[in-house]
Amino acid sequence: MPADIPGIHHVTAVGSDPGRNLEFYTGTLGLRLVKRSVNQDDVSVYHLFYGDRSGSPGTSMTVFPYQGARPGRVGTGQASAVAFTVPEGSIDYWTDRLNEAGVDADEPRDRFGDAVLPFRDPDGLPLELVGRTDVPVGDPPEGPVPAEHAIRGFFGVTLSLSSAESTVGLLRTMGYRETDAERHRRRFETDGHGDLGYVVDVLEEPHAPRGSPGAGTVHHVAFRTTTEDQPAWRDVLIEQGLRPTEVIDRKWFQSVYVRERGGVLFEFATDSPGYTVDEDLEHLGERLVLPEWLEDRRNEIEAGLPELPTDAGER
Ligand code: ZN
Repeated sequence: MPADIPGIHHVTAVGSDPGRNLEFYTGTLGLRLVKRSVNQDDVSVYHLFYGDRSGSPGTSMTVFPYQGARPGRVGTGQASAVAFTVPEGSIDYWTDRLNEAGVDADEPRDRFGDAVLPFRDPDGLPLELVGRTDVPVGDPPEGPVPAEHAIRGFFGVTLSLSSAESTVGLLRTMGYRETDAERHRRRFETDGHGDLGYVVDVLEEPHAPRGSPGAGTVHHVAFRTTTEDQPAWRDVLIEQGLRPTEVIDRKWFQSVYVRERGGVLFEFATDSPGYTVDEDLEHLGERLVLPEWLEDRRNEIEAGLPELPTDAGER
């Protein structure tokens, strides 16, 4: 068996206006744009990667901002919320910050003893800040949010499922064990070795509407693995009767995708080589980077993309 999954590698969502998306995740949430690229399966659309200073595994929220995209519907068969870790004492700071920025946010609430602040991104994607006493120091970016309050990375995701059984079985195979439950929410945690993104909450909602893809919905959840273990995970998925993709080279990581039986698209992504493989740490995200197999189409690709502000204003 491959080693237990240590947690989330990245989460990818669908958005609409790319400039507004960039402003929200960097300006309001204070994440760093660590990679500015294109959707490798549709190069007319950006793929924006937000994370900590170096885009460590477990910190990168990524978005396909389809200009003019129609809103999707959050529902079953999806990751229905994405949660980030902040220090416990920072929830008041974030409540004020989100209110001042006019963000659609709820009042903080208690969940399993943690303060949770639910809010939505500009496309309506459900996000949460979870205040924790055990936050790692992390590697916060320089930016508008003081380092003491900065988002450290993922806390976890919530999966909404019409029937939870087979998804829970897969999570257990991946190394997750049930640690708590409260009404229809069951909490799973992986021991792994990570201090970020180790939580998956499962909501069994047989009567909730089925989710549909579009702006404001999660596209897939990527879990961390190693280059050595990735083929073994692929074999495990096949043994479970699932139909994973081949290993796909995404330049910054290698990916295997699988639609699990609850309907959620999972990815198994390698920690290496990471976002600094093709850009210096200091200059991450400043220019459009393309994997070498798309580089000869750069002019055509750039011409097809909407304008997006650059950090250094070098263009
Ligand atoms: Zn991915």
